[in-house]
Amino acid sequence: MSVNYGSIFNTRVTPQSQPIPGAGQTPNSAGGFAWLVDDWTQLERFLILGSEGGTFYVSEQKLTVDNAQAAVRCIQADGRRVVAQVVDVSQGGKAAKNDPALFVLALAAGLGDLETRRAAMEALPLVARTGTHLFHFLEYVEGVRGWGRLLRNGITGWYNGMEPGRLAYQAVKYQQRDGWSHRDALRLAKPVPASAQHDAIFGWIAKGWDEIGSDLPGEESLRLLWVYERAKRATSEDEIRSLIREHRLTWEFVPSEWLGSREVWAELLPNLPLGALLRNLGRMSANDLLVAGSPEVEAVAARLRDGEAIRRARLHPLAVLVAMKTYASGKGVRGSLKWETASAITDALDEAFYQAFENVEPTGKRLMLALDVSGSMEGSEIAGMTGIKARIASAALALVTMRTEQQVIVTGFTTAGSDGMGKVSKRRYDSGISTLDISPRQRLDDVVGRISNLPFGGTDCALPMLYALEKGLEVDAFVVYTDSETWAGSIHPSQALAQYRERTGIPARLVVVGMTSNGFSIADPKDPGMLDVVGMSTETPQVISHFIRG
Ligand code: CA
Repeated sequence: MSVNYGSIFNTRVTPQSQPIPGAGQTPNSAGGFAWLVDDWTQLERFLILGSEGGTFYVSEQKLTVDNAQAAVRCIQADGRRVVAQVVDVSQGGKAAKNDPALFVLALAAGLGDLETRRAAMEALPLVARTGTHLFHFLEYVEGVRGWGRLLRNGITGWYNGMEPGRLAYQAVKYQQRDGWSHRDALRLAKPVPASAQHDAIFGWIAKGWDEIGSDLPGEESLRLLWVYERAKRATSEDEIRSLIREHRLTWEFVPSEWLGSREVWAELLPNLPLGALLRNLGRMSANDLLVAGSPEVEAVAARLRDGEAIRRARLHPLAVLVAMKTYASGKGVRGSLKWETASAITDALDEAFYQAFENVEPTGKRLMLALDVSGSMEGSEIAGMTGIKARIASAALALVTMRTEQQVIVTGFTTAGSDGMGKVSKRRYDSGISTLDISPRQRLDDVVGRISNLPFGGTDCALPMLYALEKGLEVDAFVVYTDSETWAGSIHPSQALAQYRERTGIPARLVVVGMTSNGFSIADPKDPGMLDVVGMSTETPQVISHFIRG
């Protein structure tokens, strides 16, 4: 018997447990082989998805170190470009959380060349837009550099460059977080106040006020400090309500002892910003302000349906998804709050989710959206958002594309058997791909529930293309939502796509939507018909549509 050389070295059909010969693949974390994305793509994944909570395969610590190393390589290659990308993601509200942006900015401020370090400090007010952001930046930057003049000037610029009204708000709202306070920052930066009002605010930060006058101060910025100090000393609900009505006391400055009151919230509701509205839906329902059929519920629903306002407030779709899950559950994540839900609000939240994305143009092409529903997708949380697993997020993301397209097939794929930690079993897996009966006409929470109940299994990212071949489906573009931890198939996804193109004559494209910030992709970087995009940015569906349209 002779050796079958062709089965040992074959560039067209290679099991996923082996690298495609000569293609430059690398082992992924699951015992299969995939490509590493380039450092810039990994940087973008980190900025959007973070590393909080790690992935199913990799600890938070290792994932953070891997991402930080990729960021540092980018800083060394082109530090100005890194700073510009950080500003773009952060200011555009593309990510659900700002911490990765602050972290990378701190790395640039500490480890970049002089030009990069300057650019990073100039960008600070654009990325650190709140006191908490500033404190997190300080925490990160102290890990990579000392308090030189550049840093002191940058922090001084943050305080002096802010107009007094806004600075007063930051000073009152974020007095201290995570071991840092404005007092600490000012002590280290030693700024010379830019104006008399800045001076007065710095004074309040350093020493507070011993007593407050009975009259409202003339300057806008000091007015907020006065209202805050009055609220702190209030002894009756009426006093709080009149401060809200007459002096625009906002919810975050109402002492917590009054926050259980229906009357106080009734006073706050008309001027509540959208983000605060979203976070307090449960509380306002628990205290009977938001009761089905009430005018308050109608008003809230109307605000949640206002797409323009939602995009202006930069409400992230993930924040809406979290609010929807919490509200629909009828009880608080912590504590003992319980409420009855109103369907007008649930429906409006559903609408708000779609509105939170950038507008998407339909491609007019034949699409297959393929959701990796394997075990690891249930074991990775998105951007550290409680309860938002990668496979739920990918279903939600797929709905956005489904809503704009005419010809879409949605499939879910996993293989039978467990998704082992790096162990590739020799036993045969049953092909586990089927169409998913989901539609944007269904409510998002129903779809999420359905996806959550699918069985787990191993991962074979080639299944969508093989399934389309087997069923004779005509597909212009496959959109695969995955962590690229594929290992269970007898052929690589890129090879399955090549077979599909060859046998059907359709130059099908492949979009890989990366749902974790690991460095892997099933997309061949040398094939211009394949693209890596980052899951759960506000512009993800738009980028997908743009690539498929060509
Ligand atoms: Ca998996």
